[in-house]
Amino acid sequence: MIDNGKLLWEKLLGNLHNFIPNVISEQAFETWIKPARFLKFEGGVLYIELPNKWIVDWVEEYYLDGIKGILKDIAGFDVNLRFLPKEGITEENKHIEVKEVKDESNLYQEHTFDNFIVGKSNHFAHAGAFAVAKSPGSAYNPLFVYGGVGLGKTHLIMAIGNYVKTNYPNLSVRYIGTENFMTEMIYAIQNRQTVEFKNRYREVDVLLIDDIHFLSGKESLQEEIFHTFNTLYNAKKQIVITSDKSPEDIPKLEERIVSRLQWGLVVDIQPPDFETRMAILRNKAEKDGLNIDDEVLFFIASNVKTNIRDLEGCVIKLLAYSSMEKQDITLDKAKEVLTYIVKDVKKNITIDFIQEVVADYYQLTKEKIISSERTKKLVLVRQIAMYLSREILSVPLKEIGDAFGKRDHTTVMYSIKKLEKLIKKDKKIKEQVINLKQRIKGG
Ligand code: ADP
Ligand code: MG
Repeated sequence: MIDNGKLLWEKLLGNLHNFIPNVISEQAFETWIKPARFLKFEGGVLYIELPNKWIVDWVEEYYLDGIKGILKDIAGFDVNLRFLPKEGITEENKHIEVKEVKDESNLYQEHTFDNFIVGKSNHFAHAGAFAVAKSPGSAYNPLFVYGGVGLGKTHLIMAIGNYVKTNYPNLSVRYIGTENFMTEMIYAIQNRQTVEFKNRYREVDVLLIDDIHFLSGKESLQEEIFHTFNTLYNAKKQIVITSDKSPEDIPKLEERIVSRLQWGLVVDIQPPDFETRMAILRNKAEKDGLNIDDEVLFFIASNVKTNIRDLEGCVIKLLAYSSMEKQDITLDKAKEVLTYIVKDVKKNITIDFIQEVVADYYQLTKEKIISSERTKKLVLVRQIAMYLSREILSVPLKEIGDAFGKRDHTTVMYSIKKLEKLIKKDKKIKEQVINLKQRIKGG
């Protein structure tokens, strides 16, 4: 068993080499992993620094699982990995050995309120978060933020942390992902460090717990979080939590936890509308010193609708292109560089189109689907069409409601939930939905 973090990382680098190309390609290893630096090893979590956030996202998406597997073999116990970005690394400081980081907050510095663009889709969440940041422990407790992948949950709760750190330097802040919380917990139990572990999370002023849907079905983890919650709550310390679903929708979560999560303020983040997407793109381009025409940004914003991380990914791609080729980015160039989004442009999928495909599939008319008629078959087909509109286009519920004969957004929400349940239960429906998706996407 190796529990010296630095040694662990070095061993991993040595070992990882043997896994080329199964886990990682030679090039990826040289480009992404080798420049990484060991930061600290705490509670079974190995903290590693990578040059920037984009590389962090990349490594996490493609290599995290593979690397974790190897780490476990080397260490002899479960080790979790957390990559932190070092923004603005330079040639000069690249080789300097870093000391173990003193800062215990685990925040990305650039996730601030200043860098967070506010639009219709996130303004409630932003307002709640800002209120909490200004009066930790006394505005809303807990604050619960939920929404889909890449919509800014982590950014927003880290912004709270960064704000508190700057404005209330005597308050302690800690961010932890629920999965890492579990790793630390197991590590603490195995190494008889449970007291230190409990204190680490029960003696902070602001605790930020990310991705709590991970608790689903994990009983001892729920137990630990429950007690941490109570201790902090009773001491009037601020708790902020994110999840991909609202508290009551997280499966296999104890009722006593669900209810506590609802004690304070529950806010959601929706996919950004067009204006917000444009603003995020402009902001990102400006920050990265990239000079792009509005028509290019317009092109991206019209085609990447679901995920802000993907929006940023487009800008980064263009940035890489323009710095390598030393060329300005024209719309044609952008279309070429971002071919994968152009593919979707050609298909030009709209709610109208989805309604037509679904109607055709069930030998109905589009008019019937959006009518107020409520035969059993029509209700089901309507639900399917609404569900697919949301799935494929990620447009706001209101937009879907409007397109389905001006139905209310709560009706749309209800229909989508209903269908989600049905898909899980009914194989036939599931198959039909998959078929329809293929038809719509032109497969
Ligand atoms: P989530 O945690 O919901 O999956 P993140 O917080 O990781 O999403 O956000 C994904 C990326 O998009 C991050 O780089 C984040 O900085 C950026 N981002 C998200 N929302 C906004 C926003 N409103 N303004 C600016 N950047 C944003
Ligand atoms: Mg996140």
